Amino acid sequence: MLIALLPGDGIGPEVITQAKRVLDAVGLDGLIYEEAPVGGAAYKASGHPLPSETLDLAKRADAILFGAVGDPDCDALERHLRPEQAILGLRKELELFANLRPATLFPELAGASALRPEIATQIDLMIVRELNGDVYFGEKGMRKTADGKREGYDIMSYNEDEVRRIAHVGFKTAMARDQRLCSVDKANVLETSQLWRDVVIEVASEYPDIQLSHMYVDNCAMQLVRNPGQFDVIVTGNLFGDILSDQASMCAGSIGMLPSASLDSGGKGLYEPIHGSAPDIAGQGKANPLATILSAAMMLRYSLSMAEAADQIEAAVASALAAGARSADLGGTMSTSDMGDAVIAALASAG
Ligand code: ATP
Ligand code: MG
Repeated sequence: MLIALLPGDGIGPEVITQAKRVLDAVGLDGLIYEEAPVGGAAYKASGHPLPSETLDLAKRADAILFGAVGDPDCDALERHLRPEQAILGLRKELELFANLRPATLFPELAGASALRPEIATQIDLMIVRELNGDVYFGEKGMRKTADGKREGYDIMSYNEDEVRRIAHVGFKTAMARDQRLCSVDKANVLETSQLWRDVVIEVASEYPDIQLSHMYVDNCAMQLVRNPGQFDVIVTGNLFGDILSDQASMCAGSIGMLPSASLDSGGKGLYEPIHGSAPDIAGQGKANPLATILSAAMMLRYSLSMAEAADQIEAAVASALAAGARSADLGGTMSTSDMGDAVIAALASAG
């Protein structure tokens, strides 16, 4: 199996290095790695943030482990040359339509959550967000009203095939977890949401073991803070998922802890930490690599059918934290490579 390593910019290469060390330490057979430049690094080397060789590698690979893109040196470039275009281009070219973002709080970090510790420790949920449709991709524009006022518009639309394929990802994700799926919409006022709800209910008949519930997005935002323990898997559209997943991430402590997956319909995926390239701390060995290490674990679970190895890595991260491993964002003094060492030591002592 071929894994594409795309380290990118800023702290991207630093955190990818640690994730690769952890993957090596797990000792998995049959994995081949190829690396390619992406983002600002690629622009500086070849004049394009997503060079065709990088895209080809991503297409050939079974899974992609991605660091981060974003480089202040590139701020003045035209939009299509900016580093951020690389990740948008990969999502589009590879049809990565399902974004999976777990929000989990390791109990040792309860003090770092935006929620009270006794509520924060209940959080263990996965948000499945549709990534290729909705209001971001509908017709948009700016026009003048009859009385000469400016009016902006963005059309929100979903067709039933788009809803059906993300619903399947939601149900399958729930099957692999706690068998509970909450579909989030605004069906009391939006046509798109009424369709969403109808299609999710149709798809539910194929998953009789899953307990399905529905919630309006405004209520969900409130419940995530009030009683997050009620959720296992949430499936929702692009706009609602964008907002809810950022909200859930604040419940979970540092931005340096959270992984993500973006999947296509065949199980291939791109795995990356939710944080960006963090230019303010790049090159200083301060970045927390755990979000990327946990992204590598998701890669093993969702694209490479190596769930046991994924469990080992996640358990090693938990033990490293329990043993006191803390980078600066977690209130400690350990460097990026110290954090990698701590996870590798925990893997070794787990045997
Ligand atoms: P993007 O637009 O790519 O999301 P951003 O500037 O919004 O980028 P980040 O690059 O994620 O956001 O950085 C936000 C803040 O979080 C910065 O202060 C950064 O140093 C910090 N940060 C991000 N990732 C990490 C990490 N892995 N470890 C420690 N601190 C981090
Ligand atoms: Mg950001």
